[in-house]
Amino acid sequence: MALKALDIYKLLPKKNCKECGDPTCLTFAMKLAGGKADIDLCPYLDDQAKSVLGATTRPPIRLVKIGVGERSFAVGEEFVLYRHEKTFYHPPGILFKVSDTQTKEEITAATNRVRNESFVRVGADLRFNGIAIENVSGSSDAYAHAVATVESAADLPLVLMGKKVDALSAALVHCGTYRPLIHAATQENFREMCTLAKQHGCPLVIKAKGLDELTSLARTCSNEGVRDLVMDLSPQSLFDFITTSTSVRQLAITRTVPDLGYPVFLDATLLDLQDAAVALGIVKYASVIVAAPLSPASTRAALTLRQNIYTDPQKPIQMNPGLYRIGSPGKDAPVLMTVNFSLTFFTLEGYLEATRIPCYMLIVDTEGLSVLTAVAAGKLNEVLVRDSLKKFNVENEVSHKKLIIPGYAAPLSGRIEEATGWTVMVGPRDAAEIGEYLHEEWKK
Ligand code: SF4
Repeated sequence: MALKALDIYKLLPKKNCKECGDPTCLTFAMKLAGGKADIDLCPYLDDQAKSVLGATTRPPIRLVKIGVGERSFAVGEEFVLYRHEKTFYHPPGILFKVSDTQTKEEITAATNRVRNESFVRVGADLRFNGIAIENVSGSSDAYAHAVATVESAADLPLVLMGKKVDALSAALVHCGTYRPLIHAATQENFREMCTLAKQHGCPLVIKAKGLDELTSLARTCSNEGVRDLVMDLSPQSLFDFITTSTSVRQLAITRTVPDLGYPVFLDATLLDLQDAAVALGIVKYASVIVAAPLSPASTRAALTLRQNIYTDPQKPIQMNPGLYRIGSPGKDAPVLMTVNFSLTFFTLEGYLEATRIPCYMLIVDTEGLSVLTAVAAGKLNEVLVRDSLKKFNVENEVSHKKLIIPGYAAPLSGRIEEATGWTVMVGPRDAAEIGEYLHEEWKK
């Protein structure tokens, strides 16, 4: 049963030393009560207090950081099974996999893709997260060489994959200080792997078949002193991954099996239909996804899907209201009004740029609602438009008083004209038609 903040506070050392990152013991206790902090952050808790607080105060899925500083990403610390219940917080890291049997050129090419490739969607820079290097050759020298090749090409978060402790150890000489994720400890080698992880302060993947074996291995490695664990569920098929990963998430967030409260690892190269495996990993709780370098089309699909799944469904992505310029608009340029729902903004912006007609976009604050929803909810109205025209000084930017409004806001056209004194032109409902509309309808 979850403890209340005051009960937790009574067990804390009350030094108010801030070493846990909170200003006081009380604020730390409140975070613990909400499952938003880890008791290990307080270095002064004695073993008795730790055992009382135990798993009831930890986030149900541990936050694990892979890499350091700018070359890092954090996964885990999730609280719900379904995104609409709250939100998903930490998007999965997607890493390209290379092996030490590939040529230096091939390894460098994959690394450069991760370092250089990105695209902007709804205002966010979308890119992959790092490189996973697999020891396929069995040679420690070849593996260390492959890791050094990646290291010399880019500063990226790494996953070191291999069965041989010697090879992993040789590679860690090159990159151990950057906290790579080590893959993987099994029932057979967990002692050596835990020693390696502790020696370099690295997170560790544990790999087992079946939830009982996985639970037992997680507990064993945690008792060995390695707390930053990630779990490879060894799925045999896409279906196996969905069912196992869903069970793990459910057992972890309900704290039914706290020892399963770690992020999940997925090697998509081992399953049929890699693109489908990556997509399933994104939607079904994988936190670290390793894949062979994706095609340009699959890259767009995977990064777009990840962005969509990991946006907060309760907070529409918003643009700041204001007057935005497309090209270098003059005094006679058209002014197009729309809402601050970012998908609307970026869709319209893209089509307007394609028209090559310099213009202004007047973005009004509908709290991130789309045009249709904002009109229905009364958030988009003549008063808002009037105030926005004034606030952003539109009259001084252009020599006319014509305002183009979205087609879906047509019912407001009369009221906007009355409130603002501007002539309202009703634009198309579909942003894709804005080019044709401007070429045909726009007259100074
Ligand atoms: Fe209190 Fe411990 Fe945080 Fe210090 S580290 S403020 S003693 S909870």
